[in-house]
Amino acid sequence: MNSLEFLENFGFLPFRRKGKRGVKPHLSLRFNSNVVVDFHVDSYKGLPQEDYEFYNLITHAHSDHYGQNNLGNGNAVASLETAKILSATTGRDFRGRTFNLGEKLELAGIRIRTYPTEHIFGSSAFLLESDCKVLVTGDVKDFSSLPKCDVLITEATYGRPDFVFEDEIEKMIENAESSTFGVYPVGKAQRAAKILNENGYAVNATPKISKLCEIFGIEISNEAEVNLVSPKELYESRGRRFILTAQNFYRWPRIVVSDHLDFLGILAMIDHCDPEHVIFYHGRPAESLLDLLDRDYSLLRDLDVMSEGMR
Ligand SMILES: [Zn+2]
Ligand SMILES: [Zn+2]
Repeated sequence: MNSLEFLENFGFLPFRRKGKRGVKPHLSLRFNSNVVVDFHVDSYKGLPQEDYEFYNLITHAHSDHYGQNNLGNGNAVASLETAKILSATTGRDFRGRTFNLGEKLELAGIRIRTYPTEHIFGSSAFLLESDCKVLVTGDVKDFSSLPKCDVLITEATYGRPDFVFEDEIEKMIENAESSTFGVYPVGKAQRAAKILNENGYAVNATPKISKLCEIFGIEISNEAEVNLVSPKELYESRGRRFILTAQNFYRWPRIVVSDHLDFLGILAMIDHCDPEHVIFYHGRPAESLLDLLDRDYSLLRDLDVMSEGMR
């Protein structure tokens, strides 16, 4: 579906913004409420203009979702935890609007509900309600709290059939003694540290990981037997080393601990939310995923590219 067909069928206009250097990341959703309002999803800051409003919705604090670009943006909207992570990783204050996960918001006359996706601390889905219900998920680990919707705007990071996996939590715990685990410092590190703590392991970590763990009350100890470092730092580490991920391009022995749904999980989420139409806005769904959907879908390239001021 192109942008105008969405407007005709669902009463809102999804589009991509033209930037100076090509198309800006992800997509924007335009609603005609009491004013014209654009919601830029996981993208660069909007452009202030007369007689229209804009908000930047930040689903979570990973850098490919552009929260850092919005730290000084008073019209950015992010969960409290997301704002905390962004501030901790940059040393700058988040000047946008924050909410507690699960809270309802009203922005330019559009009702918005928020839901946890358990991807990382603070990761939030947004349900925008006008003529229809539009759900923007961001990255998802657990879809069980997500609501039904008419249009689902979601990710397909592991949208290929060779990505069918289950977390190997037991394997992680069994191998923790005297090991170094390579983990993404934002998100994965906190998930791993929390599980290890709960299973009786004190955890040592690099300063960046420690700082983020502290924010969420996860204990880090310098005396510990198990070390958490970033994947890059794994090269300089000694002893037994593992990488905690579902990706398969690392040379280290892998233990599957993922922050995303796998191929089957994405399909299950779509069934759960039961939308009339799916827009994949992050990650690349394989043809086989699209074939299995059994409902209408669009990719970012189907949407029109427009200057944001244009009506
Ligand atoms: Zn993410
Ligand atoms: Zn992502």
